Amino acid sequence: GEPLILSEKCIGCLKCVKVCPAAALEMFFTPEEQRILEELAKQQGAGAAPAEEVDEEEAALAAKLSAYRDVWVFIEQTEGEAAKVSWELLGVGAELAKSINVALCAVVIGEGVGHLCQEAFSYGASKVYLLDQPVFHYYRTEPYLNAFCYLIDKYKPEIVLMGATGMGRDLAGAVATRVKTGLTADCTGLDVDDKRNLRQTRPAFGGNIMATIMCDKFRPQMATVRPHVMPMPERRPAASGEIVHESCAINEADILTKVLEIIKDTKGQGVDIAGAEFIVSGGRGMMAPENFSLLQELADELGGVVGASRSAVDAGWMPHERQVGQTGKTVRPKIYIACGISGAIQHLVGMQDSDVIIAINRDREAPIFAVATYGIVGDLFQIVPAITDRLRELKQ
Ligand code: FAD
Repeated sequence: GEPLILSEKCIGCLKCVKVCPAAALEMFFTPEEQRILEELAKQQGAGAAPAEEVDEEEAALAAKLSAYRDVWVFIEQTEGEAAKVSWELLGVGAELAKSINVALCAVVIGEGVGHLCQEAFSYGASKVYLLDQPVFHYYRTEPYLNAFCYLIDKYKPEIVLMGATGMGRDLAGAVATRVKTGLTADCTGLDVDDKRNLRQTRPAFGGNIMATIMCDKFRPQMATVRPHVMPMPERRPAASGEIVHESCAINEADILTKVLEIIKDTKGQGVDIAGAEFIVSGGRGMMAPENFSLLQELADELGGVVGASRSAVDAGWMPHERQVGQTGKTVRPKIYIACGISGAIQHLVGMQDSDVIIAINRDREAPIFAVATYGIVGDLFQIVPAITDRLRELKQ
């Protein structure tokens, strides 16, 4: 029959005419209606003006952001020795630089640190900004902050990466605040989207979700990454690049912090679990501190070190320096042996990138088995000594 048009609701927009699948609708207007419709169309046109303004805003933002280029990695050093995480960051930095077609640059700040430029080239940087002055001998927030911000203002990097170490966390936070940009701490994944925004992925809500964070309105985009999260890039000793010698007018007398003496921390007994190739870790299932000697014996056979879950650390069985996980260290050994550790997400985020994971647990439902390469269901007090004995036999 005749299509029914409700005249009190119809605004004459013609949408129904266009969408009618049977093309069954027609609409005619009196000259007066036609005049009203044209008037309405004009008003809508005027209403569209703000959209153009938004476009202008977007264009201004794009112009502001495009002034920033290159990927920078801060080369953290103490007494002229670089932290390994800096080289790991050059590895991921190279991939980012390649994907947005810019240069990978290193920033070396210190005194007597020129030799680190060649090291930076060998790990993939094509340019190094070098600030070599006595005032930078020891790391102190103030002079390093001033120096880094001076470089950012002058050379405008698009992305800045630092290690999530004591020094990197301190400097990155201060720099991001001073230059008014965003900073994502402890990233576990970094890549770039099609609008050149850095996608910064990190665990959130106690490790229960992975959040990808972007800083799309400010530059540089800053991120820190913990040691051992990114793989070491290949070292090419013959590589070369450009050194940009810079200096920054900073007066020692104006700096409030003075380093009087360096006292080495001996509490961790010099054991670096983060750099170990073999780790034997114990959790609450170890039952008592003296039982960790079982793990030490196995670690000794492997040439490795003993680690711990937070429960074992909280119980006072192991020092905090040995803790693996979200609030401990991130490790990436060749072999990680988890003994009496259930595999809570906060533990897993610290060790799941190990090459081989061996889990020993008497509960076959324990979540640690989900990430384990080899799972042994049974009593660790029988299994651990049996493995140690077998290794000793093999060595004889
Ligand atoms: P449990 O979960 O109690 O597991 C003990 C395991 O031992 C059990 O699976 C049991 O079956 C097994 N077991 C017992 N006896 C034996 C036996 N004889 N033989 C074999 N197996 C046995 N945890 C960390 O480890 N690192 C962190 O950095 C960390 N950070 C955290 C941060 C936050 C914000 C929060 C909320 C928690 C954090 N935790 C961390 C704690 C984490 O949630 C777990 O509580 C902790 O990892 C559990 O430690 P566990 O596996 O040793 O103990």
